[in-house]
Amino acid sequence: MPSDSSPDTSAIPPVDPGADIPAPERREQAVRAAVERGVVGPEAPVAGLLDTVGIRASAAALRAAFDAVTPPGTPVLHAFAVKATPLVPVLRLLYAHGVGAEVASPGELALARAAGVPPAHTVLDSPAKTPAELREALALGIAVNADNPQELARIDALVGPAVPASPVGLRVNPQIGGGAIGALSTATATSKFGVALRDPGARDWVVRAFLDRPWLTRLHTHSGSQGLPLELMARGVAAAYELAEEINAAAGRRQVDTVDIGGGLPVDFTSDAQSPTYADYARLLKQEVPGLLDGRYGLVTEFGRSLLAKHGTVLARVEYAKTSGARPIAVTHAGVQIATRTVYVPEAWPLRLAAYDAKGLPKPGPPVAQDVAGPACFAGDLLAENRLLPLLAQGDHVAVLDTGAYAMAAHYAYNSLVRAGIHGFATGSDGVRFSVVRPPQTLAEIVTESGGAHPDALL
Ligand SMILES: *Cc1c(COP(=O)(O)O)cnc(C)c1O
Repeated sequence: MPSDSSPDTSAIPPVDPGADIPAPERREQAVRAAVERGVVGPEAPVAGLLDTVGIRASAAALRAAFDAVTPPGTPVLHAFAVKATPLVPVLRLLYAHGVGAEVASPGELALARAAGVPPAHTVLDSPAKTPAELREALALGIAVNADNPQELARIDALVGPAVPASPVGLRVNPQIGGGAIGALSTATATSKFGVALRDPGARDWVVRAFLDRPWLTRLHTHSGSQGLPLELMARGVAAAYELAEEINAAAGRRQVDTVDIGGGLPVDFTSDAQSPTYADYARLLKQEVPGLLDGRYGLVTEFGRSLLAKHGTVLARVEYAKTSGARPIAVTHAGVQIATRTVYVPEAWPLRLAAYDAKGLPKPGPPVAQDVAGPACFAGDLLAENRLLPLLAQGDHVAVLDTGAYAMAAHYAYNSLVRAGIHGFATGSDGVRFSVVRPPQTLAEIVTESGGAHPDALL
C-alpha cells in the first residue's frame, strides 16, 4: 500500500459543539427550522436533510474503532461506498474526516474526483468494468479489485511487462452463505461477485494467479449489505486472511500486503440506536482474525450504509389527508422516488416515520393506524401501511428517518418526479445552519434528460 494512503488526520477539525446534542434532538431542531425557513414548504414539498454533525461523528467512530485494534502505523484506508450516498459534498466532508471513496462505476469515480478524493484514497470495484474504465483507473493509480479471471486477463493486457502504479487486488467470494436479505447477500454459493473460492479448482487457480503476477498484492471480499450477522461477516474476512497467508507461504514472501474487507455493517432501522457499532465489529475481527490486525497487513474498509443512513431525514408535506374504506391516508410528497426499496419490498426495508404539524413541531395526539402514501401513480406507493402515528392532517409534515444511505440520493425517476433537493444541516450554539448539497431538479432538466433536445427523433 502506498505510504500516503493513510489520510493525514492531524488537520481534522475538532468535533462540532453540536455533537453534545443527541441525534434525535438535532433532527427535531432541523425539522422545525426547515419548516420555519421554507426549506420545506408549498414550493418545495419534499427535501432531504443531512446531519453533518452526525456524519463527522460516524467517520471519527470508524477511524477510532480500527485504530484501537491495529498497531500504530498500520496502513488503514477507509473508503466510503459511494453508491450509498452519491453526493459530491458528502464525499468531500468524509474525505476531510479521513475517509476516502470506494467507487463502482465511471459516474461514481467522477463524483469522487469532483470531491477532490485523491487516487491513493480511492478504490475501484464493480463486477462489469470495461477496458476503458480499467485503463483510466490504472493510469490514475487508483486501487483496482479485479472481479474475475477475464478481468484479470484484461488487466494483464493493459499492464504488459510493467508493474502497475495502482495496487491491484482480486475479489474472492468465500461462499459463507447469505443473510436475511437475499438481494444483498454477496457471499452465497452462487453470488455474481468475485471468484467463488469453494468451487472445484478455484482456490488453486487463485494461488497460481498470484504467483504468476508479482504485482497482484491485495485480496478483496465483501460479504453483503444489511441483514448479515457480524459473525458471518467476520467469517468471510477470516477466509480472505487465510487465503492471503496461503498465497504468501506459496510465494515465500509477503506478496499479499493488504486485505480489503469490504463494508456491510448493518444498521438498526427500528430505533435511534447505532448498533452494532464499528467498535463492536473491530473487536470481533480482533478476536476472530487476530493475524489480520497484527500490523503485517494493510487494511481497506468500504462501509456505506452504516456511515450515512442514520444521518439523513426526508421531510415531506402532507398534501392531502383522506380516508378510503375507513383507512386514513396521508398523501405526501415522499414515496417511491426517495425510498424505492421500502416501497417495493416493504417487509425487508421498513422505515421509521415521525409526524410533525404544520409548523414543524412534533405532532401531538393518540396513535391512529393510517397509511402514509407517496406521490407516484401506482397503488403500492406507500411508505407505511397501517402505521400508528398521530393522525396526520393536510399541511402537516412527515419525516422519513434513517434515509441518508441508499434512499434520498438514490432517486428513482418514475412519474418524472423531480429529484428532491438535499440540504446539510449543522446544529450548534447559534442554532441550525443549512447549506444546499443538491438543489431540487428543475423541470427543464427533466425535459432535457427525457429527450427534450430531440422531439422529432421518432417522426
Ligand atoms: C455496496 C458495497 C459496499 C458497501 O456496503 P454497505 O452495506 O453500504 O456498507 C462495499 N463494498 C462493495 C464491493 C459493495 O458493493
